[in-house]
Amino acid sequence: MENKKELRNWLDDLNLGHPLVIAGPCSAETEEQVLKIAHELKDTDVNYYRAGIWKPRTRPGNFEGVGALGLKWLQKVKEETGMKTATEVANAAHVKLALEHDIDLLWIGARSTVSPFIVQEIADALEGTDKIVLVKNPVNPDLSLWLGAIERLHTANIKKLGVIHRGFSTYEKTKFRNNPNWQLAIELQTKFPDLPIINDPSHITGKRDMVFDISQIALDLNFDGLMIETHHDPDKAWSDAAQQVTPNTLVQMMRDLKVKKEADAEAEYNKKLNNLRAKIDVVDHEIIELLGKRMLVSDGIGKLKKEKNVAVLQSKRWNEILGRMVLEGQDHGLSEEFVLKMFKAIHQESINHQEKIING
Ligand code: PEP
Ligand code: MN
Repeated sequence: MENKKELRNWLDDLNLGHPLVIAGPCSAETEEQVLKIAHELKDTDVNYYRAGIWKPRTRPGNFEGVGALGLKWLQKVKEETGMKTATEVANAAHVKLALEHDIDLLWIGARSTVSPFIVQEIADALEGTDKIVLVKNPVNPDLSLWLGAIERLHTANIKKLGVIHRGFSTYEKTKFRNNPNWQLAIELQTKFPDLPIINDPSHITGKRDMVFDISQIALDLNFDGLMIETHHDPDKAWSDAAQQVTPNTLVQMMRDLKVKKEADAEAEYNKKLNNLRAKIDVVDHEIIELLGKRMLVSDGIGKLKKEKNVAVLQSKRWNEILGRMVLEGQDHGLSEEFVLKMFKAIHQESINHQEKIING
């Protein structure tokens, strides 16, 4: 799929003047709940009202959604509030029902994007639709699966496309429910700068008190919008209770988030600068995380050396590492002087760690 300006026509045509906002509960629970939240979100910046009707739960036995019945409630939302509606579809039957109920925006969930079979089935069912279709990133950090899904939809002649970045699962425990791996989203933005990209801070964080900060990072990285799970009584939500915010909190967040407008040359300059700085922040964060991981490995070596009663410093191996890193550094435009200085510092920190282990 080549990059095309047309990819963002649907978003530009909305003429919002602010980032696109998709909000509403994780799941439609009852008709009253769906309508209550919708009325609280009416007359706010919310553009699309979301509610999950079919809920893909990782383990069976949890609430799996109210099913097609909920689509009628979403139709009522549109009649009563004028808000457009959005829901997740995960197979051809869902697509058929959602289109019959005039859902305006459909998204493919993270557990579906991993399966080209499912994505193709959905693309075939949606062929030629003029509804907006957004693809969440796959649960695993694989850019080509994500792109593959977009390509399948594009080939099915679906014009109003976009992606949702909702973070990735990791084997290691992190403070996030789904690790943002911003680098991957940035790579996608670089490849397809005109493909609208929405951030889903709710599923990234899993915790409502982290939603604001992630939203701000996303806006600094030039994301086009946010999808935020919103519930009138979050703690009592039937799914994803810990990450949902109240409509009031959402409104306050929309006021507090800094959005850079491209008003004049100075603002344009600031916006670009801010965007580049946000990218640097992402990389710096990864550098620190990687260094921390390196020290953990080094600690393991320290423990082994202690058991075997071996000296901490092993110069021969260290010189080999340095030689290799200087060469690799050259491939990445890094000077020998810099690589040597940096690795000396890293080496010293490793030695300090190991000495602590050996000497107690
Ligand atoms: C959701 O949006 O409620 C959802 C299930 O999301 P994801 O596919 O990102 O897990
Ligand atoms: Mn959810």
